[in-house]
Amino acid sequence: MNQTHTIYDLAVSGVRQLVPYVAGKPIEELERELGLSNIIKLASNENPLGPGKKALAAIQATLPKLSLYPDGNGFNLKSALARKYGLNVDQITLGNGSNDLLELIGRAFLAPGLEAMFSEHAFAVYPIVTQAVGATAVIVPALNYGYDLVAMATRISDLTRVIFIANPNNPTGTLLSQSDLQKFISAIPTHCICVLDEAYFEFVSNQKGINSLDWLKTCPNLIITRTFSKAYGLAGLRVGYGLSSPELADILNRVRQPFNNNALALAAAEAALGDDEYLQETIAVNAQGMSDLTAGFKALGLEWIPSAGNFVSVNLKQPGQPIYEALLRKGVIVRPVANYGMPNHLRISIGTPAENQFFLKALADTLANV
Ligand SMILES: *Cc1c(COP(=O)(O)O)cnc(C)c1O
Repeated sequence: MNQTHTIYDLAVSGVRQLVPYVAGKPIEELERELGLSNIIKLASNENPLGPGKKALAAIQATLPKLSLYPDGNGFNLKSALARKYGLNVDQITLGNGSNDLLELIGRAFLAPGLEAMFSEHAFAVYPIVTQAVGATAVIVPALNYGYDLVAMATRISDLTRVIFIANPNNPTGTLLSQSDLQKFISAIPTHCICVLDEAYFEFVSNQKGINSLDWLKTCPNLIITRTFSKAYGLAGLRVGYGLSSPELADILNRVRQPFNNNALALAAAEAALGDDEYLQETIAVNAQGMSDLTAGFKALGLEWIPSAGNFVSVNLKQPGQPIYEALLRKGVIVRPVANYGMPNHLRISIGTPAENQFFLKALADTLANV
């Protein structure tokens, strides 16, 4: 009884072993460190156009009401989402970013002794959510940087409770075919929740005939997560949502904080959903930027992983960290992905045409001097 404890001894074991998520370096931090201005950030898959006009107007209109609590049920935003997707309001769960939903899923369905499955090179939040609640991570080797759904199916056990699939995946940008995905999801046993993370859905929806919403009709243990952070340009406000059966939404609603979305976020997200012009411009700028960046990589003799998102991971054929640091000194923030098991890659978010050119010039200069 007279043994002394450190604060670390007191934390539950899953948390004690957690390694915190490493976010993209903020512009202000690099400004402070280097005394540079004109820094460009292509590190967090943010929308290079800035927020849309309709979202900004909605924020302005909501400011006088900030002394009131937000609508804890997010009725207006949920109604708008339900209309857009042809779902019922009780199938929607709002999150403080879609990361919030991933965490709610972990808290609701995982515990020590249970398993969560995801792929090698998958989004870094999946292992964090799993570890935080003391569950066991089952990490399935990737196939050509993409998900190996056949191998994943063989690894499902009686203890598997959650399977995380990002489509497209971050940081690889790989996209699974809808038919392979449908086959995998329809065979998932009833004791597993399948999380289909479609954070980059808007960037592929036009081209590839994504029909994952249809699967909700036959699969009560499927939840599709989407976000306003990427194509809708509202990463700073933190709004994401889950689409699922009413039963799954009901469970998540029990662990959700009552006011997990603030009033500005709810209003801006609803307005953004009705701003198709902004969304189409975002998609067009992204497509052009992807083509410019990959043309630049080709000219430099570099290979990249073909990406369906608003980012691309390029193979430098040498450790990425020193190149990342050299780019920082030139005022360009990109993302090292060694922590994703990709030490020779850097992940570049698609910027404006001017940002993309600035980055390509900085990369060419850096590679010429190593
Ligand atoms: C960016 C991202 C998210 C979520 O971002 P939020 O800002 O929390 O909505 C979720 N999944 C993947 C794969 C992402 O890249």
